[in-house]
Amino acid sequence: MKTPMIIIAAPSGAGKSSFVNAIISEFDQLGDTTTYTTRKIRRGESEGNPYHFVDRNRFLELVEEDFFVEWAEVHGNLYGTPLHQIEDFWKEGKTVIMDVDVQGARTFKSKYPDSKTIFIIPPSLDELRRRVIGRDGGAPADLELRMKNAELEMAHAEKFDYQIVNDDFKSSYGEFRKLIQELLGLS
Ligand code: ADP
Ligand code: 5GP
Repeated sequence: MKTPMIIIAAPSGAGKSSFVNAIISEFDQLGDTTTYTTRKIRRGESEGNPYHFVDRNRFLELVEEDFFVEWAEVHGNLYGTPLHQIEDFWKEGKTVIMDVDVQGARTFKSKYPDSKTIFIIPPSLDELRRRVIGRDGGAPADLELRMKNAELEMAHAEKFDYQIVNDDFKSSYGEFRKLIQELLGLS
């Protein structure tokens, strides 16, 4: 049976975006949400890629308007998913795929029990730190907060329906791809 929603979570830097970006370019059946955040734009990012960037006041206005199906504070910033994006993908017959933090995964799983959750595990915390620094071109200001949160998030890995260790990218992505194919009912 085709899964309506696939939820990916992992500590920052574990490789969620790398997996999700690669998989949506391969499978038209997937619809990737563009969520809203109050965090600052990183190098290489722009409005709409990968987020809609808004200030805290605008975000809180959207909360008041019930614009978000789910929102949470993560690493000191607000992140939220608009309900209409999910409904629009479902109208098109697509499976929604999204990456959210562990609080978001819990909320979505309780709102949509048919959804499937996947936790991406980094090979080690040292490697996670290296990846974050490599991605951001230096240690971001909130590096220590992200690393502390990584340990807290990893403690939830077993509660997810599936776990994948992102060690060697090619083989880890292969494992992820196979799982997504199964969840899409393609194999
Ligand atoms: P997340 O979305 O979970 O924060 P990213 O997908 O942005 O993580 O990955 C963080 C950094 O690590 C990026 O620079 C990415 O290219 C790199 N990366 C992802 N997977 C691997 C891997 N298996 N081995 C080495 N580097 C990786
Ligand atoms: P980053 O700032 O590194 O892109 O993302 C920080 C964290 O916020 C990641 O764990 C990401 O999955 C999560 N996130 C992104 N969008 C949402 C959302 O709409 N809701 C929740 N709960 N988390 C989100």
